[in-house]
Amino acid sequence: MPNVSFEYFPPRTEAARGALKKTVEVLSQFQPVFQSVTYGAGGSNRDGSLETIKAIREKGDAAGHLTYTGSSLEEIEAFANELWVAGIRSLVALRGDDRENTPDDAPFENTAAFIKRLVSIHPFEIAVACYPETHPKAASRADDIANLRAKQDAGATLAISQFFFDNSEFYAFVEEARDAGVTIPIVPGILPIYNFKRVCKMAQACGAEIPDEVHRAFAEANVCGSSELEIASELLKGQVHDLACAGYESIHIYTLNRAELAVDAAQAFFEAQKWRAVA
Ligand code: FAD
Repeated sequence: MPNVSFEYFPPRTEAARGALKKTVEVLSQFQPVFQSVTYGAGGSNRDGSLETIKAIREKGDAAGHLTYTGSSLEEIEAFANELWVAGIRSLVALRGDDRENTPDDAPFENTAAFIKRLVSIHPFEIAVACYPETHPKAASRADDIANLRAKQDAGATLAISQFFFDNSEFYAFVEEARDAGVTIPIVPGILPIYNFKRVCKMAQACGAEIPDEVHRAFAEANVCGSSELEIASELLKGQVHDLACAGYESIHIYTLNRAELAVDAAQAFFEAQKWRAVA
């Protein structure tokens, strides 16, 4: 069955909380298989994360992200317990990005060890991150994929990819991961472009290439009569259509807490799935 999942971050103001509530309501029309909420590096905005997960849980299955860099074992276990008590059964287990002041003494040697610990506390379903264009800190692509395999072997049952804009990069990565014994579903992570300049910075930080044609399309925004939002929508629809045609039945949308482009992507994805089913 084709499905979508949505990712949100904890809002920081009352107005942003109201906006997120509306977004979740709008996106509930797609009956997401789950909706996840990010966890600030080092446990920052931990309460906001828990509060948001609880609010989203009222609208369907929710997953909590949990990171371990910059947090103590006690803090991590306490948060995992709070999630379990709140009825959350799925986690996205992550290392978390190092910040300038992140201490070196992470409570786990690697993310596989973190996963083993989490499932020993409660029988959570564990999703993990993966990197179609290789994590910038990975020793090599092969090492990065071996790390994904280790996360699977530790108990992860789903991998969600970092965002990418060139589907051929994603397809090649999945093939290599399969060759390396990764058998869990690998769900493409889709990032709507609300602000092209900001996305360029994000892409640079995480090693995602932005193809020339995407640069060209945004360079022509407002010159050729199309706004950035219209261009972003067209690109997104093309991307998810291609994924559906390639046989992918799930996508994970980084919503940035906004509905507009997530709606376009989800609609285009389900539409393409319908055509595929009758073809
Ligand atoms: P791992 O699986 O441990 O590592 C991935 C690869 O990077 C491996 O090859 C590993 O060797 C290498 N690597 C990473 N860091 C190091 C290091 N310090 N030293 C050596 N090698 C390293 N971040 C948040 O803070 N909060 C979130 O809620 C969040 N959600 C995310 C959701 C998704 C779907 C994705 C794709 C990313 C998310 N991130 C989040 C970002 C994530 O924490 C970073 O990408 C982090 O750097 C790697 O996390 P990981 O669990 O994939 O790491």
